[in-house]
Amino acid sequence: MGHDVGDLLLKEIAKRLKSIASHTDFVARLSGDEFCFLVKDIEGEDVASDVAKRCLEVISKPIELSARKFTPACSIGIAHYPDDGRDLSTLIKAADTSLYAAKECGKNQYTLYRPELTQRAEYQFRVEQNLREAVENNQLSLVYQPQIQVLSDKIIGVEALSRWNHPRLGQVSPSEFIATSERIGMIKPLTEWALKTACNQAVAWKQAGLPAIRMAVNISPSYFLDKDFVSLVERTLDETGMVPSELELEVTESAVQTDPENLLVFRELKKLGVLLAIDDFGTGYSSFASLKHLEVDCLKIDKYFLDDMLIDKKSEVLIASMIEMCRNLEHETIAEGVETAEQYDALKRLGCEIVQGFFFGKPVDADEMSVILAQQAQAVQYCRDKLTV
Ligand code: C2E
Ligand code: MG
Ligand code: MG
Repeated sequence: MGHDVGDLLLKEIAKRLKSIASHTDFVARLSGDEFCFLVKDIEGEDVASDVAKRCLEVISKPIELSARKFTPACSIGIAHYPDDGRDLSTLIKAADTSLYAAKECGKNQYTLYRPELTQRAEYQFRVEQNLREAVENNQLSLVYQPQIQVLSDKIIGVEALSRWNHPRLGQVSPSEFIATSERIGMIKPLTEWALKTACNQAVAWKQAGLPAIRMAVNISPSYFLDKDFVSLVERTLDETGMVPSELELEVTESAVQTDPENLLVFRELKKLGVLLAIDDFGTGYSSFASLKHLEVDCLKIDKYFLDDMLIDKKSEVLIASMIEMCRNLEHETIAEGVETAEQYDALKRLGCEIVQGFFFGKPVDADEMSVILAQQAQAVQYCRDKLTV
């Protein structure tokens, strides 16, 4: 909304912070949208936490700017002198580290400094430093997890999941390096690599005589909405010879908004003939309007609902409703994170079409998956032979 409006907001926040400061406290703006609140004579952590709570409270009061109403939010990091830093720069660095931890925990909250946070920040820094090189030099790999059709008990698809095993950092979790690659602008090359590798693999399996299966690839919401994304998919299909209807793009709910640009991306992808799945369904900000307007093929029910579906009736009812809704909308449902036979039985009873989870198979590398697919093909052939005899 422009610098002028930004300045007005900063002034208002400064005023609010000053309104809760006592005559011994000191408030300053450090840079950009960062403020520093110095509180003297603190006897325990509770006092600092109380100040932080009051800051969150005053800042979150609605504000009107250019005739529009906003509800500001902030994250707060707390550091204590002298425990967390004996000089100014160490103390501010500690507060900064806790601030980032507060942001990571979902924002709009405060975090007290702990030495582990510095270790975490250093780890993140090392991940960040090495990731660029890893993506550029093909040091990532893909593993594949089977998706099983309940009716036939057969693998009808696999989900490709990225892995990064760094010589010094060890196995870095995908949630960690995907978020980092989004932050440092590496999500585009990473997605290009994942899409191409997965499509090449699917084509190679078919060329090796294995039955056609669906290949699902995760796409970060930030890149899904990039203007180059549709042409990347088109190019990858061309270059790899992948059959469009055998490629499924999984995107989480945050990309599922119904603004015109987004609708266009969905429509253009559908024109290419690829399948679209909404990942982690039910955990984000999905709206029924998006299901009305967007052409999706499949909803993936998040593990969050499955975890307690056997003990919490509410979870079971929600899963049943999602499956029913999908059936009526002619979307497929995939339940992800199935870990036990009991969960599988319950999902079967509720009419879920496809299941995925450790109960059926953990993600494995391409060679291992080739063996699994070949075994399945042999078993099917064996049954057919039996039937024809
Ligand atoms: P996701 O797409 O929802 O993938 C499912 C995650 O659940 C995977 O974790 C998988 O290993 C795990 N999982 C599957 N079955 C079970 C189960 O029965 N129990 C448990 N506890 N976990 C199960 P993973 O591989 O760590 O990936 C985490 C997330 O990172 C993925 O969630 C996806 O959002 C993201 N991700 C992974 N690879 C890529 C990629 O190439 N590109 C993008 N954009 N995101 C990726
Ligand atoms: Mg997924
Ligand atoms: Mg998921």
